[in-house]
Amino acid sequence: MTLSKDFYERSRKVTPGGVHSPVRSLKTVNEHPLFIDSAHGAELIDVEGISYTDYCMAFGPLILGHANPDIHRAAEDALLSGWSYGAAEPRSLELAELITGTIPWVESIRFVSSGTEAVMSALRLARGATGRSKIVKFSGCYHGHADAMLISSGSGLAETATADSAGIPDGVKQDTLVAPLDDEAALTELFVQHGSDIAAVIIEPVPANYGLLPQQTSFLQSIRDLCDQHGALLIFDEVITGFRLGFRGYAGVCEITPDLVTYGKVIGGGFPVGAFGGKHELMEHIAPVGEVYQAGTMSANPVAMAAGLATLQRLLDGEIYTELDQKAELLRSLISDDVLLQQAGSLFWLALTADKTPIRSPELIPESAIANYGKLWQHCLKQGIYLPPSAYEVGFLSAAHTETHIKALASAVNSFSG
Ligand SMILES: *Cc1c(COP(=O)(O)O)cnc(C)c1O
Repeated sequence: MTLSKDFYERSRKVTPGGVHSPVRSLKTVNEHPLFIDSAHGAELIDVEGISYTDYCMAFGPLILGHANPDIHRAAEDALLSGWSYGAAEPRSLELAELITGTIPWVESIRFVSSGTEAVMSALRLARGATGRSKIVKFSGCYHGHADAMLISSGSGLAETATADSAGIPDGVKQDTLVAPLDDEAALTELFVQHGSDIAAVIIEPVPANYGLLPQQTSFLQSIRDLCDQHGALLIFDEVITGFRLGFRGYAGVCEITPDLVTYGKVIGGGFPVGAFGGKHELMEHIAPVGEVYQAGTMSANPVAMAAGLATLQRLLDGEIYTELDQKAELLRSLISDDVLLQQAGSLFWLALTADKTPIRSPELIPESAIANYGKLWQHCLKQGIYLPPSAYEVGFLSAAHTETHIKALASAVNSFSG
């Protein structure tokens, strides 16, 4: 029995499935959880001492690679001064000033401890500020695990919404409307029916949690226009894309301005940080100024703030994005035609289909792309490559991935015969 297997057998006795977040179980790629001992740069080293080139990168925060020395130093410095005050401190001020000074649509920001919390708080703010109750989300987008965001369209109609999880009260379903991606007509119809009740539309501007489903700018613009016509707010959930597809996230790339934006992942450099922000006028609805309550014992934890600050300072001049784009381009040039590679900056998604039509909504993902992924994952693992452990998760390039790493990835994928 391997050490990982042993840890797994012990772990499943004391925690559901032996893991603290479901995708870590590696169930969908027919593996038991791998227990990790350490990680440096682009390498993940398991408890057996076997090392893998990591393309999951903790699901997104580690844009500078594992155990980056600058972040290490910043976090260690912060630790020397104590690690939780439950009081105002200057590190979060510095991080807030850096972000608001660079991203015009974020005049004011509040830090929380996860992407889920950021989304939950932004939704409450949208409802509080508009006095409306309904939220529109898209089928194929993920916004964390708050009740209101675990709702899917039933048989394609918003009126027949179903919960993605047990334990979600019926009342919640009535206030989450689900629209299809890449379908302006369907969204227009939803606004015709519910326009005056819609507080906000929330979307991942580049959906990256159901494979990678890049949207057309014209579609994103139509959402902006419909929100404006009906007095609804537009929320960009940039928990994955924020500070990754450029410092100003995808809103900066597509030049469509959201009313509220949510961040997570990269913003904490691998420590638990989330945030939501927008114009002053809107953010002033939040307590203690306004009537929308929001709080957190661990919010703006000084060590996490120091790590986030060190990360964003490295990203500010844009050089890392240029390098990441070059690496993404190299990957594109090397991957064989038997695989559909969908990319957005340093995000990539391998769909096992030779059909090269871009996929923009979940219904268009071919069954084969999902069914054979487990075998591809196993094939790559044997060659020392740790791909994202589900067909629906995207891959991440980081500053620590080299040309040699990327060539090895392409050659492993290209040698997979299904
Ligand atoms: C990861 C993610 C979340 C949830 O963030 P957690 O930190 O896991 O709670 C929300 N929205 C998007 C777009 C994400 O990718």
